[in-house]
Amino acid sequence: MAEQSSADAVVVGAGPAGSAAALELARAGRSVILLERGPFPGAKNVYGGVLDEVLPGWWEDVPVQRWVTRRSTMMMTPTQALTVDFRTQDWGSAPYNGMTTYRADFDTWLAGKAVDAGAQLVTSTVATELLRDPSGRVVGVRTDRPDGDIRAQFVVACDGVNSFLAKQAGLLPRTNPEHQTLGVKETLSLPRRTIEERFGLNGDDGADFEIVGCTGEIPGGGFLYTNRDTVSVGVVLSLTGLAKSGRRPEEVLADLKAHPAIAPYLRGAELKEYSAHLIPEGGYRSMPPLTADGLLVAGDAAAMCLAAGIWLEGVNFAIGSGLAAGRTAAEAIAAGDPTRLAGYRKRLADNFVLTDHKNLQGAPHLVLSDRVQRQYPRLLCDFAQEVFTVRNPKPKPGLGKLFRRTAARHGVRLRQLAADAWAGFRVFG
Ligand SMILES: Cc1cc2nc3c(=O)[nH]c(=O)nc-3n(C[C@H](O)[C@H](O)[C@H](O)COP(=O)(O)OP(=O)(O)OC[C@H]3O[C@@H](n4cnc5c(N)ncnc54)[C@H](O)[C@@H]3O)c2cc1C
Repeated sequence: MAEQSSADAVVVGAGPAGSAAALELARAGRSVILLERGPFPGAKNVYGGVLDEVLPGWWEDVPVQRWVTRRSTMMMTPTQALTVDFRTQDWGSAPYNGMTTYRADFDTWLAGKAVDAGAQLVTSTVATELLRDPSGRVVGVRTDRPDGDIRAQFVVACDGVNSFLAKQAGLLPRTNPEHQTLGVKETLSLPRRTIEERFGLNGDDGADFEIVGCTGEIPGGGFLYTNRDTVSVGVVLSLTGLAKSGRRPEEVLADLKAHPAIAPYLRGAELKEYSAHLIPEGGYRSMPPLTADGLLVAGDAAAMCLAAGIWLEGVNFAIGSGLAAGRTAAEAIAAGDPTRLAGYRKRLADNFVLTDHKNLQGAPHLVLSDRVQRQYPRLLCDFAQEVFTVRNPKPKPGLGKLFRRTAARHGVRLRQLAADAWAGFRVFG
């Protein structure tokens, strides 16, 4: 990078949001510099690996590990597990539905698409400060390179959770730990054949398990998914719950790995990688303003990760918002109107990004409630155990009576259960 560079736009962060923004700007014929602090895109972040939608025709050359054809939701107590297990071969061929991938491979691939379209990728470079003109308008970034200021008509901040740039612009207030979770993940090696036998998979098919009730008194959840010859297992933990519990995240993960419903999948597996990363899970209500004069914010930097129990999706939202930010900036440059950023929010409101977030804004609160986290998994597991118990046969009490009796034993009031079911219907319905 030349000293004192300039470009139409500078995008900070080559995660999914940043690469998508740079791709869109480059496709519109704009000069764009894509800055990444890691030595290569994807070197400094992690993610669970399941994507639903990327780019048209993405499946033809994306660095996939496995195509997800099996999705299971597991409710757990320390000794029980009740699973809804779904599989479909419809997701096993193009256009597919979701995949597991290594983030280093995926981010490098997506940044490569931006470079192919004409963006300039600059790695091992940290944006340290926003540059402003006398009116306060953002006009570029300072980097940690000597004389490494980059002047641009627009800066797109895609620097991830706790965005330093959004904070500097006064868009992100002080971080509220209630709006964040900590994701910890282990990637473990197993022979490809063993994975296919244990998870009941053929060829390139993959499995993704989402787990509720596995984090004890800490609100959160767990996951287990298959790669080609590794499996990834992890937990996502409320930061405030973790602090209150006095436990360490590795202990919670160790408990999940030792659970009788999970341990057989992992037997003999060897640790290949451990990672931990914050996730902005506050949803719609915690999103900052998305623009300032000369600045657009996208992806996790704008708290666009959606954690709604049955979905933990950040990559789609990062890509969707990155594309919209890039398109908005490109249009404003073409129109010669630097103030024309209102279209960004409208674009997001018209597509899945803000629509999903708005519709599901009550989800994090409901999903992280103690009832959904602990009481209901216990109730459902015990109910299933009662239903399937055949020793000492007695006259069957009837399922309704059995359920009421189990609920009473767990202190669950049916009126509260109905209210939560209704709330769930309103949030997800
Ligand atoms: C354990 C875990 C599991 C997850 N599972 C899933 C899942 O299954 N599906 C899903 O869709 N999402 C999942 N997510 C969420 C997903 O990872 C994020 O939502 C997504 O990565 C957001 O993309 P982004 O581009 O906004 O930010 P990031 O991916 O965080 O990228 C930000 C980039 O900016 C760079 N950067 C930061 N500051 C600077 C700076 N000052 N200068 C230069 N570069 C900078 C970083 O190095 C990084 O490359 C998971 C997250 C975790 C932690």
